Amino acid sequence: MKRCYSYNHDKAILYLVATPIGNLDDITYRAVDTLRKVSYIYAEDTRNSMVLLNHYDIKTPLRSYHDFNKELKNDEIIEILEKGESVAIISDAGNPVISDPGYNICVSCIEHDIAVTTIPGACAYLSALVSSGLPPMPNTFIGFLDSKKSKRCEMLNEYKYVTHTLIFYEAPHRIIDTLNDMLEVLGDRYIVISRELTKKFEEIIRGNISEILKDTSLLKGEMVVLVSGFSEEKSEKDPMEMIDELISLGYRNKDAIKETALALNLDRRELYDKYILYKNNK
Ligand code: SAM
Repeated sequence: MKRCYSYNHDKAILYLVATPIGNLDDITYRAVDTLRKVSYIYAEDTRNSMVLLNHYDIKTPLRSYHDFNKELKNDEIIEILEKGESVAIISDAGNPVISDPGYNICVSCIEHDIAVTTIPGACAYLSALVSSGLPPMPNTFIGFLDSKKSKRCEMLNEYKYVTHTLIFYEAPHRIIDTLNDMLEVLGDRYIVISRELTKKFEEIIRGNISEILKDTSLLKGEMVVLVSGFSEEKSEKDPMEMIDELISLGYRNKDAIKETALALNLDRRELYDKYILYKNNK
């Protein structure tokens, strides 16, 4: 077991600092204070982050940290922290680590016994979830789907029977393809698209996928797509077919039965017995 106090002031700290997702006012006092006092700020896009730093008159040296230079930068950051100087990681918007760089340096710090802490703040998917009107808990945050259709459909298939609210990030140039794939794989679910959150043209679009696809001119800007979870009433799915489908996706028999029982609110034991009978008669 390892225990690590985040505020042992003799030691350096890696701060994962949340920044605004649009409105520059959405940053905490503590985030601004931290960004002023650390020795270096590492950012995904230094030009973009400069806008924020100038707005708050933060003069801390700014360096770049991308996924493609992460190994080199991890060594550099660890060296700085081991010398006793603190570092902040920020991303273009919201929380670092969440569909953004930062995970690798967080793990490296843990391996090197360096304290990691977070300065909480805006996060696009949480903001979208709380105003969506969809059941907030449980929820499954997936982030970006793959850019290739076949892989994207495969990913959607994995979540097809999940009863939680599903949350995705999507880029405007791919949203129509993604919605068409969702319609094909998940069926005509009720979804919520939260676009341009905290910005001038913030809009929340609610409706079934087919209905939303009728007017794609609405689908502009940054967006979070929230999909209502699988529901038995809305599905004519036969539990046996569902188990077979999950098994074909690579689930073990036991897990496929468990997932189906959960999704359709059935008794797991009874479903197991029925499945054995069904298999034997097949
Ligand atoms: N790290 C960020 C966070 O904490 O939410 C997410 C970064 S990810 C690279 C960028 C994606 O987040 C966008 O493609 C969009 O799906 C979503 N996003 C970011 N800002 C948004 C906003 N203002 N409104 C809606 N979605 C947003």
